[in-house]
Amino acid sequence: DATPNNLEPYWMPFTWNRQFKKDPMLVTSAKGMHYTSADGREILDGTAGLWCCNAGHGREKIVEAVQQVVSHLDYAPSFQVSHPLPFELASRIRSMLPGDYEHVFFCNSGSEAVDSALKIALAYHRVRGDAARTRLIGRERGYHGTGFGGISVGGIVKNRMFFGPLMNGVDHLPHTHNLEHNAFTRGQPQWGAHLADELERIVQLHDASTIAAVIVEPVAGSTGVLIPPQDYLKRLREICDRHGILLIFDEVITGFGRLGKPFATEYFGVKPDIITCAKGLTNGVIPMGGVICRKGIYDAFMDWADESGNTIELFHGYTYSGHPVAAAAGLATLDVYNEEGLFERANELAPYWEEAVHSLKGTRHVIDLRNLGLISGIELEPRPGAPGARGYEAFKRCFEKGLLIRVTGDIIALSPPLIVDKPQIDQMYTTLREVLENLD
Ligand code: PMP
Repeated sequence: DATPNNLEPYWMPFTWNRQFKKDPMLVTSAKGMHYTSADGREILDGTAGLWCCNAGHGREKIVEAVQQVVSHLDYAPSFQVSHPLPFELASRIRSMLPGDYEHVFFCNSGSEAVDSALKIALAYHRVRGDAARTRLIGRERGYHGTGFGGISVGGIVKNRMFFGPLMNGVDHLPHTHNLEHNAFTRGQPQWGAHLADELERIVQLHDASTIAAVIVEPVAGSTGVLIPPQDYLKRLREICDRHGILLIFDEVITGFGRLGKPFATEYFGVKPDIITCAKGLTNGVIPMGGVICRKGIYDAFMDWADESGNTIELFHGYTYSGHPVAAAAGLATLDVYNEEGLFERANELAPYWEEAVHSLKGTRHVIDLRNLGLISGIELEPRPGAPGARGYEAFKRCFEKGLLIRVTGDIIALSPPLIVDKPQIDQMYTTLREVLENLD
């Protein structure tokens, strides 16, 4: 019997569990745009799970693909032998990207994708004889998962404290959001592109020839939907090019249609050397992450010959890399996105979404609204002396009123499945308005 109060709390899903013990909220099934809560209520999904289920829930095509594979192949190791599905999936992903993206490495999560991308970047320089390039640059308020690589380049203090020493030689760019300058901007703010020039300062400080890679989320998601200023990402690309530094886009959230294009790289017209993805890759059905590399990058990682011509094989890979069931889920997911034109749909709905987001201007507690594609950030004024309390209450009351939102501190993030329709968008913002107007 899955009622929240008779569950023994031995499973520790997140440190958020502390909150869960106080306010147990459970869902037991999901279909289309809705979850069903343990007490039998329909909950409109404003978050696509956790930015995963871009095609909505319970998609039969994906479920059938999974069942079909698992019925005749449960597992195949990716070390000495493999099977065709991840090869097929890699080709499909490649065909969704403009430019010279070539290899795709598969893993099981966004965190593994980030750690793999950092290792690929470091090895790339070493193999080319650039042994001094060991420094990495992330960004304040960047979230890149919970592995040691990810928290080293990540910029959230709470996620890093007590886990050090972390990776050596990591600097952080300033984050790109400034409430004073950006408040209530629609789409990309104009102010702040020069923040990319901070990269030049770090380069001068350490010498360009010591820097391996820069990693950023094109839109910082988990820390409150921070939209990059116009030209910011282009400037990062230019500076990296000038100094031989690899640029990594962490597209774990922005990948697979969130901005109305397959990847943010196309949306912003900027080509990073490496792209990480996960979440929407399998519509959340089975864990899977990926690292997509431009031509030449992964080759270097794979084929390393020393000065005497002896090949040295670097070791990287996971037991479940390219898992057949996950690859089948990925292929079926891409079919659904494609057959239903969901990325185009996101693009078409984006102006409606923008109007809906900004209709909250003037709502109690709201101090900023941000949007791009089908994503929004609603920033609340923190309650004095209790940061995060107002955000959490908003989350709880929305759930009671049948809407799932995501909060980080006092910032609400919305990112619905791309199958959302206009009445459901209206419902999300109407519910939010009611909740916020009645919140202390
Ligand atoms: N990178 C980004 C940009 C993310 O948003 C996330 C997850 N929210 C991750 C990495 C980590 O992904 P996972 O939780 O699958 O390890």
